[in-house]
Amino acid sequence: MVFILKAGVEQREIDKFVKTWEDRGFNTILSVGTEHTAVCLIGNTAPIDLQHEVETNEIVDYGKRVTEQYKAVSRTVHADNTIIRIAGYTSEDGRTEDVIFGEGTFPVIAGPCSVESEEQIIEVARSIKKSGARLLRGGAFKPRTSPYAFQGLKEDGLELLFKARKITGLPIVSEVMNQTQLPLFEDVDIIQIGARNMQNFDLLKEVGKLKKPVLLKRGLANSIEELLMSAEYIMSEGNEQIILCERGIRTFETMTRNTLDLSAVVLLKQKSHLPVIVDPSHGTGIRSLVAPMSRAILAVGADGLMVEVHDNPAKALSDGGQSLDPLQFEELMGDLKKRAAMEDKKI
Ligand code: PEP
Ligand code: MN
Repeated sequence: MVFILKAGVEQREIDKFVKTWEDRGFNTILSVGTEHTAVCLIGNTAPIDLQHEVETNEIVDYGKRVTEQYKAVSRTVHADNTIIRIAGYTSEDGRTEDVIFGEGTFPVIAGPCSVESEEQIIEVARSIKKSGARLLRGGAFKPRTSPYAFQGLKEDGLELLFKARKITGLPIVSEVMNQTQLPLFEDVDIIQIGARNMQNFDLLKEVGKLKKPVLLKRGLANSIEELLMSAEYIMSEGNEQIILCERGIRTFETMTRNTLDLSAVVLLKQKSHLPVIVDPSHGTGIRSLVAPMSRAILAVGADGLMVEVHDNPAKALSDGGQSLDPLQFEELMGDLKKRAAMEDKKI
């Protein structure tokens, strides 16, 4: 159940209202929007007479029952889009600005699947920056299907990302695989939870305690609702900075690595206030599909894009077949910039 409070109610009144419910045994989620403040009750609300509560509480404008299992991430509880700002992007002329997700913008995250060497990550970072990417991605800890495949450079990989950020002024995104690694990620700008860890609930709870943006990818075989429930795990611990990422799901189709579900973008944005980006590299697994799908991702109204780019895809230690080379990425960005400009959207 959610109570939408009247405009201009004093904080002291809100605190009193929240306390009454907590004294009655409910947990509460307080959601402060630009238009109004909402108080959502967690617990068995079935016996509550909604009409009576609205009529007898001066500060309440109206109330609604929240039928979804997820509450904090739901649009019913929080109507405004959540806007996530990543500090530290430095433009070519030395200006520092925030990268913004969720404000009608379309920032592009690009970089190799795995950080492989200093030369590789710095070369890729420089080229994607020139083409207009806003963040650099790179896996330092890699979840690989085979234990014999390249597992990532681990701590050294993170150090190389920090170095690439310093040189290029691009904030960085990297995947954490378990909670013991979290201290190493203190200086990473966005912590990625990969598809294979989408339902690692202990990890979700730990990143929920951080004050740091989290990029939560949809699991290989997880429903849209399960993705929202995983986001709820993070948000219920206090961290509201979550970016959802559609990256394709397993279906009976074998010609693509995954089936990229673009309807999920629209549904997620209807159901939740969180920004939603898409990864067409893992979503298709095929280099020639990445640019056409990226155009579709912009057109469908996603809040951003994540693309794998490698300086020499043929030699990549992971996911070379779905990676663009710097020139292909430059072409894609040129095309996206033109299309975004027609919609007055900032890339
Ligand atoms: C990745 O982004 O490098 C990755 C491993 O993606 P996913 O978790 O979506 O497979
Ligand atoms: Mn990859």
